[in-house]
Amino acid sequence: MREIVVVGTPGSGKSTFCRLLWEERPSVGGACAEFELPSLPHGFAETQKEPFKIAVPIRNFMLCAGCALCQKSCPFGAIWEEDLWIDPFLCEGCGVCVKNCPNRALQLANMQIGEIIEGKAGERKFFSGKLFSGARGAPRLLRALRERYRGDGDVVLDVPARYGEFLAAALEEAREVVLLVTPEEPALYLLDRVSFLAPKARVYLVLNRIREEDPLVSQIKDKGEGKKFELVAEVPHHPSPQEAEDGLRKALSAFLDLAKL
Ligand code: SF4
Ligand code: SF4
Repeated sequence: MREIVVVGTPGSGKSTFCRLLWEERPSVGGACAEFELPSLPHGFAETQKEPFKIAVPIRNFMLCAGCALCQKSCPFGAIWEEDLWIDPFLCEGCGVCVKNCPNRALQLANMQIGEIIEGKAGERKFFSGKLFSGARGAPRLLRALRERYRGDGDVVLDVPARYGEFLAAALEEAREVVLLVTPEEPALYLLDRVSFLAPKARVYLVLNRIREEDPLVSQIKDKGEGKKFELVAEVPHHPSPQEAEDGLRKALSAFLDLAKL
């Protein structure tokens, strides 16, 4: 099974790229971190929706003596030393802190922080995870998604870069990444983020909507080359949506050849 993580700057054509890939490769399934309907393939039908719950320790401040035994015992470093705040991004819900509290000031509670939606397009399965606004726990949600599609054949995971937690969690385990950018400042930042968060991944770089003699294009290409990213395609800027999609289709074809997908 191969997992291709697709990330991109806003307006880079990432969702269209995913949709075209699903159209071109009818055996490849998909997953979206944060539900984004436009990127799902034609014919997608929802089959199941379930709450996503996690166990989180809740502190009773009336009973807490501030001894910090919970902080010292946490195997994931999820409790801050300074104020004993439990970081929901790092907490794994293991319950060790609860067992080690001498005052029974901690209790594990089940909390719904989002939902997981399953669906089908033809015979392929699609999964999407959604976190409620303000909820933390992207790593656990992504892990739950991955558990669902692992063993189901090749899959494309569409990750919006604007959700930093999803990006970090998705790239942590990524082995193959498609990175779509337009020649704008955020592209340089995202190149750095991807190489930092996924140092072992094979990264395919697609430059979209480029204009001739734009100095940022050569900056992005130089940076990508320095990071050993593989330049798949440079798609010119097209004012017409149809031509823009045709340009991305060519980039997709180059990617499929290069990646042998
Ligand atoms: S171990 Fe219990 S009493 Fe001590 S700081 Fe943690 S929650 Fe408070
Ligand atoms: S539940 Fe586990 S991971 Fe979470 S704070 Fe307690 S000890 Fe740390």
